[in-house]
Amino acid sequence: MKVAIMGAGISGLSCAITLERYGIMPTIFEKRNRVGDRFINAEAMFEILNRPIKDCIPYIKEKFSIDLQPIKEVNKLTIHSKNEKSNIIGKIGYTNIRGRHENSFENQLKKQVKSNIIFNSKYEYEELCKEFDYIVIATGGGEYATHLGNYRCDLTCTIRGATVVGNFITDNPHVWFNYNIIPKGYAWLIPFSDKEANLVIAYPDYPNNIKLDINDMWEAFYNLACSELKQSLKITDRFEIARYMMGICIRPKIDNTYFIGNCFGTISPGLGFGQFASVLTGVYCAYDILGRAKYEILTKPLFKNYYNSLILRRFLEGLDDYEIDKLVRNLNNKLINKFVSKICGNNMRIDILKLSTPYMKLINRIKESKK
Ligand SMILES: Cc1cc2nc3c(=O)[nH]c(=O)nc-3n(C[C@H](O)[C@H](O)[C@H](O)COP(=O)(O)OP(=O)(O)OC[C@H]3O[C@@H](n4cnc5c(N)ncnc54)[C@H](O)[C@@H]3O)c2cc1C
Repeated sequence: MKVAIMGAGISGLSCAITLERYGIMPTIFEKRNRVGDRFINAEAMFEILNRPIKDCIPYIKEKFSIDLQPIKEVNKLTIHSKNEKSNIIGKIGYTNIRGRHENSFENQLKKQVKSNIIFNSKYEYEELCKEFDYIVIATGGGEYATHLGNYRCDLTCTIRGATVVGNFITDNPHVWFNYNIIPKGYAWLIPFSDKEANLVIAYPDYPNNIKLDINDMWEAFYNLACSELKQSLKITDRFEIARYMMGICIRPKIDNTYFIGNCFGTISPGLGFGQFASVLTGVYCAYDILGRAKYEILTKPLFKNYYNSLILRRFLEGLDDYEIDKLVRNLNNKLINKFVSKICGNNMRIDILKLSTPYMKLINRIKESKK
């Protein structure tokens, strides 16, 4: 059985590891000259978004024998709005490194792969179809699936980020929802260590946002972050991504072609998380190729999660700074905070995204009808 995997990222390598475990050695085609050849950034996996699964890193290890080492457990998440700030305390999830760093998730996965990786690949899907029995598209974006007429794009985003040097509490990322500075978007700070962190803004490319100057937006947010963290952050590296696609495939599998990772639609439009689901699609696709399970069935919950997350995105975009302040202020109420911390932490299996979707849907409809 000949399997080609296009893309040596999180989903492609997870697929390869699983196939190998059952005796199939795929050929991996990577367009770059090494694994993880992109800017270094810190990312996070938050437990609340992966329900009913309780603890994603041990889950991946125990269930799929894939070993991923995070930077740190997240025990506190600080949420900033225009005029408020609150903390959620609990076992919230993990932070990890991506890109060119030797300990990035991609590089950790590569160490677990034995199959041949062809770097600087210029092979197109159509060429691979002639030689291989199965093609797995894991190219990290919706472009290829769009090209094959199998993708619906719901929004694109602009992302600008920097590595900053300062003093950080490693298990405490920060997130900002401040539409006065980043309309309909958000920003975050994820520490790599107690001295280095990633500072990032991300916003949807809606017509009103495209008119704005990203340099002004970045400057305003950078100054706000420095002032709220009470330090002068030194920028040592930068990155920018234009038109990052958020969408989902129409069909997860067409004949012997599989769409996994962001090509499937693992990136959640609500808050931009996609790593955990990318590992899942990689493993699930391998199970289908191996004849152990059906990819279409295994990915059903991921479709649902995507649509719930899209409702969350629309809900967030429908709020204004006053309403966000109110939500964040409420988190400072002891009872609510305790409840939220418990849900966000690892103690409960409650799928808060699923449970709150009907409410958000209703609010979205009411707001839409008032326009
Ligand atoms: C700035 C940023 C921050 C993020 N933060 C988070 C976060 O905090 N938490 C979270 O869970 N998710 C986050 N995400 C999303 C997460 O990174 C993605 O969902 C995940 O990496 C997708 O995995 P993948 O396997 O689809 O793609 P990738 O891991 O990106 O791998 C794709 C690979 O395919 C290769 N490739 C591309 N085209 C071709 C081709 N034609 N032929 C061969 N190879 C090709 C690429 O070079 C790359 O190596 C973030 C994304 C970005 C951009």
